[in-house]
Amino acid sequence: MSALILDGSKIAQQIRGEVAAEVKTMTAAGVRPGLAVVLVGHDSASEIYVRGKVKACEEVGVGSEKLTPPESVTTGELLALIEDLNRRDDVDGILVQLPLPAHVDAKKVLMTVDPAKDVDGFHPVNVGLLSTQRAGLVPCTPAGVIEILKRSNIAMAGREAVVVGRSDIVGKPAAMLLLNANATVTVCHSKTYDLSAVCRRADILVAAIGRAGMITRDFVKPGATVIDVGMNTVTDPAEFQRFFAGNAKREENFRKKGSTLIGDVHPEVGEIAGAITPVPGGVGPLTIAMLMFNAVKAAKMRRRSCVPELSRA
Ligand code: NAP
Repeated sequence: MSALILDGSKIAQQIRGEVAAEVKTMTAAGVRPGLAVVLVGHDSASEIYVRGKVKACEEVGVGSEKLTPPESVTTGELLALIEDLNRRDDVDGILVQLPLPAHVDAKKVLMTVDPAKDVDGFHPVNVGLLSTQRAGLVPCTPAGVIEILKRSNIAMAGREAVVVGRSDIVGKPAAMLLLNANATVTVCHSKTYDLSAVCRRADILVAAIGRAGMITRDFVKPGATVIDVGMNTVTDPAEFQRFFAGNAKREENFRKKGSTLIGDVHPEVGEIAGAITPVPGGVGPLTIAMLMFNAVKAAKMRRRSCVPELSRA
């Protein structure tokens, strides 16, 4: 039997609708959430991501401002820019698009973002708030993983969850969120011994590795829920065939574009998992939806004291 497909695009659309309704209420109360996006230089992938984020702001009604310092910007200049955004009352969220140029001290830049405006949830203060189960801003992609599980009625409490990947951006916060939802959590990484055996224990398996199709059926307990965070581009026709031979729709697309997107989970896993997120159309769309959610959350948390109407929101 093939797995239930967990439609991330649909869930993301739902969340965007909810956020748009909140923004409407807030704007009527005199508070329009505002997001500042800092894009350094001209990295083409970063430009595409930022365009998507600004477009999402327009769709849900969040104000957005793009700041584009040149590639040659110094750490000091960038810190001054962030400090200015920290001070501005009309800016609720600050997002620094990564990667930053090699000569810039990225850690210092991210540490300078006011934790109350840190819509990426990367600041150590927000990491601490998450790990102590206090209200804060949670990294967007892992927050999206949890939304998919919750909104698909997949129980987490008491279940075995295995997260493959321990990055600060995805693996670790995803593990912490699952733990906070009362799952029994194991975190795996490149040094984990007998990875497939550990993964086979999972009722919920989260793959955040960055290796095309690495999680094959031997890693998956029949009936498990598999959340594929990976986004890998395949351009080699032989590799494409290894994953998608016989998939007419993918083949046509690959012929046209010369590439295809694949997750960390092999397509064959769909034959034994109970439920699975597709790539594309699974976790990916949730990331921007949760960014919009965080911009509104930051605005509510910061301005609640001065706008009483927001205390219910
Ligand atoms: P990352 O920082 O490179 O971390 C990868 C993790 O996978 C590391 O912890 C690494 O272990 C582990 N790993 C690598 N090879 C392994 C192996 N053979 N066996 C077991 N573990 C292994 O990547 P990331 O930023 O977390 O991203 C992970 C994936 O998610 C990427 O494909 C990325 O494109 C995707 N992503 C998607 C979204 C989205 O919106 N859908 C957002 C962010 C990221 P070590 O720690 O031991 O090195």
